[in-house]
Amino acid sequence: MRKLENKTAIVTGGSRGIGANLCECLAAAGANVVVNYASNKNAADEVVFRIESAGGKAVAVQADVAQSADVTKLFDVAEETFGKVDILVNNAGVVHYKTIQDTTDEEFARLMQVNVNGAFYGMRKASVRLTDGGRVISISSSAARMFLPTYGPYCATKGAIEQLSRSLAKELGHRGITSNIVAPGPTETELFLGNNDEEKIDRMRKMAALGRLGKPEDMGPVVVFLASEDSGWITGQVIPVNGGTA
Ligand code: NDP
Repeated sequence: MRKLENKTAIVTGGSRGIGANLCECLAAAGANVVVNYASNKNAADEVVFRIESAGGKAVAVQADVAQSADVTKLFDVAEETFGKVDILVNNAGVVHYKTIQDTTDEEFARLMQVNVNGAFYGMRKASVRLTDGGRVISISSSAARMFLPTYGPYCATKGAIEQLSRSLAKELGHRGITSNIVAPGPTETELFLGNNDEEKIDRMRKMAALGRLGKPEDMGPVVVFLASEDSGWITGQVIPVNGGTA
């Protein structure tokens, strides 16, 4: 039997980049997957198509995680379609590379709304609607542990997610639910490649002990492990998945 047979997972931001790969890896391990997207329906439909072509089950659902009601909708659709929710992956996120001085009120508010409020709404719903023995996996960033100029506002959101995740681990532990963080290093997605110049990308590549950028498929097996029973004694932890980036 596959590790996630009969489980249902919600992946926020599942249409592209790391989230798309997580959806496919969770489905390959047997989970039914709710593939969330904000605006890119075609990309989400393609993820669903790839999962179904491989024999899995998935549904694409539009929701802006910055809206509490939209996050509730993800749980509603998951339950209506697959009967229950066992796994929540808080992956949706936006990036922002500006100094604290140059960051506007509007930019900071939007960053917090998507990255922090989104994860918070998901964790709050998971607290009441996840099955016993369930899993919450939230995506932070290795940058949250580094002293990088222009990363302050973005890393503030990741620090908040990490602290929410630790408290959630204590709050839900009595039901066998775990809450962990995966912290990728620089990874080959639109978010990273589309917002940085070649010089910076090369510098980041060289910072990794393994001498390359991460790929979305580097994260999938770790998230499947954290979603499975194999990881049942791990909770409240941050797992860096970054090729030794420091
Ligand atoms: P991408 O930009 O490639 O993909 C972002 C995904 O999030 C898309 O599916 C997008 O949907 C979705 N999304 C964005 N805003 C919202 C929203 N308001 N509501 C719902 N979904 C939304 O990003 P990555 O795959 O690179 O990043 C995924 C996560 O990994 C993020 O949390 C990021 O901070 C983190 N991370 C990434 C690193 C990297 O180097 N790439 C490094 C460390 C952490 P749509 O397709 O509809 O736009």
